[in-house]
Amino acid sequence: RGSSEKFEFQAEVSRLMDIIINSLYSNKDIFLRELISNASDALDKIRFLSLTDKDVLGEGDNTKLEILIKLDKEKKILSIRDRGIGMTKEELIKNLGTIAKSGTSGIINGFLNPISFFGYFLQLFHDDPVEGIPMITDALLVPAFMEKMQSSGDMNLIGQFGVGFYSVYLVADYVEVISKHNDDKQYVWESKADGSFGISEDTWNEPLGRGTEIRLHLRDEAKEYLDETKLKDLVKKYSEFINFPIYLWASKEVDVEVPSDEEEEESSETSTSEEETEEEEGDTKPKKKTIKETTYEWELLNDMKAIWLRSPKEVTDEEYVKFYHSISKDFGDEKPLAWTHFNAEGDVEFKALLFVPPKAPSDLYESYYNTKKSNLKLYVRRVFISDEFDDLLPKYLNFLMGLVDSDTLPLNVSREMLQQHSSLKTIKKKLIRKALDMIRRLADEDPDEYSNRNKTGENEEKKGQYAKFWNEFGKSIKLGIVEDAQNRNRLAKLLRFESSKSEGKLTSLDEYISRMKAEQKDIFYITGTNKEQLEKSPFLERLTKKNYEVIFFTDPVDEYLMQYLMDYEDKKFQNVSKEGLELEKESKHKDLKESFKVLTKWWKSTLASENVDSVKISNRLDNSPCVVITSKYGWSANMEKIMQAQTL
Ligand code: ADP
Ligand code: MG
Repeated sequence: RGSSEKFEFQAEVSRLMDIIINSLYSNKDIFLRELISNASDALDKIRFLSLTDKDVLGEGDNTKLEILIKLDKEKKILSIRDRGIGMTKEELIKNLGTIAKSGTSGIINGFLNPISFFGYFLQLFHDDPVEGIPMITDALLVPAFMEKMQSSGDMNLIGQFGVGFYSVYLVADYVEVISKHNDDKQYVWESKADGSFGISEDTWNEPLGRGTEIRLHLRDEAKEYLDETKLKDLVKKYSEFINFPIYLWASKEVDVEVPSDEEEEESSETSTSEEETEEEEGDTKPKKKTIKETTYEWELLNDMKAIWLRSPKEVTDEEYVKFYHSISKDFGDEKPLAWTHFNAEGDVEFKALLFVPPKAPSDLYESYYNTKKSNLKLYVRRVFISDEFDDLLPKYLNFLMGLVDSDTLPLNVSREMLQQHSSLKTIKKKLIRKALDMIRRLADEDPDEYSNRNKTGENEEKKGQYAKFWNEFGKSIKLGIVEDAQNRNRLAKLLRFESSKSEGKLTSLDEYISRMKAEQKDIFYITGTNKEQLEKSPFLERLTKKNYEVIFFTDPVDEYLMQYLMDYEDKKFQNVSKEGLELEKESKHKDLKESFKVLTKWWKSTLASENVDSVKISNRLDNSPCVVITSKYGWSANMEKIMQAQTL
């Protein structure tokens, strides 16, 4: 065994390993899930390469795309081996020594303090970073993740953040990673989690051919993982949806018949698996006896069921929920809010399964303009192609998780070529339609009586599913209205808000319209920072008195929303703090205008013309003597406030 080259772990990795080693987290099982998930990723990679270059698979056992688990009870070693892509020396150093995130943050839950969403919204109108608005980078994410790990102690986060490998130190004090990549020799990476790791060219282990073997030297407290039954249960539990066969080198008690006239000692010495039955002995000597022997064989642990290929009628809710947990790597006990599973036929054939997660990742909107990626996995005829495919879904639906498996897309072309394929447009269009249908169904089936104001209340249980959805993903729907002109009306149907008549509950545009007064032409709304402030607004005086309903828009993004949402069901939107408000025809108004003409003229000349455009007799006041309104196409006062806050 040659001498090994020493390397220091990146400081963040060392810290992460310390947290893991000292963790009191009781569920140490997760390491197996992480290792199998890595093995499966590595197999996906080599299978993908083999689509365009058959030779990468090699021959013999190398062509078997499988995962093999073995136990050495004596040496207390658990090893997991795959025939995946393997790692070169460089890759071992980089992948198992540093945290190099490349935008996997799309699925991170709650690592960052909320940073003004509005700032990110501004980036919609700028290609470059806007000054003063932090872009989300590793420099921000990694320490935030560490904090979260340390404070919550929740090891489940590790897989979602993309550092799942290090979970091996929950159960092992010494780990060896033996890896062989087609482009390099076989190497061994090893570490006792003492701040450094070693790499050596492997001259002593059996050649792997291709792939990676992880050898865990288990800690004394983790000896339970040498139990076959335990491992079988874990694989079943966590890796049910892995698309490659997982085998365990499992012991088996077999009955072996041996001639009984042989000496006892001798027969018990035959502890090999060779079965020596002597059935042809004849009737004259029926002296045979049966003894128990232990043999080993590869036992298949999973059935590799691709849930999305089955008929939606046959898949149970429980299976969908489990599948969601496995693809989201979020193994909490929350269920997805909704899902849709369908089979698209016609020119472009594909199957798809989309989920609405129970919670929005806290950086969903913060990284909105930094990342193009959706959380959809793309398969072509069951072969995993990519989970970083652009343009399967529009950005505003990036919160959805799931997969698309296409029969129409070609298998033997590069990702870049696929990205250009004409079928993608059709797929995208259908996905949007189905996604919006799913959300609409949620709204219809489980509407809500939930006020935005009380986000964490005892009423959590009573909340309708759509209220939860709105609370988590309402912004996405609004962004959709801004960005997706084609589906604007469909999206507008999904809008929820409070109004002067909603009594703390959420209401919709359809409901608003159903309550409109007979003579009312426009949909009235007002924007501001909160409902309490808006309720007191002088702009509402007359409207309230005359029993008109006014929508309260209190989210900064609403200002932009209303620049794009001009009308709904043939009704125009009117901001009641802007010019253009028309109530029912009032003949009195004309007379008033005339009789106060001198006064309004005097006001106009007294207030310099650069300060006011015009002075008019108001139709919106009741108690207040006067009010300042803004022009139809200018910024509302609320917008001015937002912009000012932004440039501070
Ligand atoms: P993630 O899987 O989210 O990227 P991990 O910490 O689990 O994060 O793994 C880090 C990286 O190490 C992987 O991205 C991959 O490049 C490499 N890796 C880990 N296990 C294997 C394996 N069995 N075969 C090939 N590469 C692996
Ligand atoms: Mg991983």
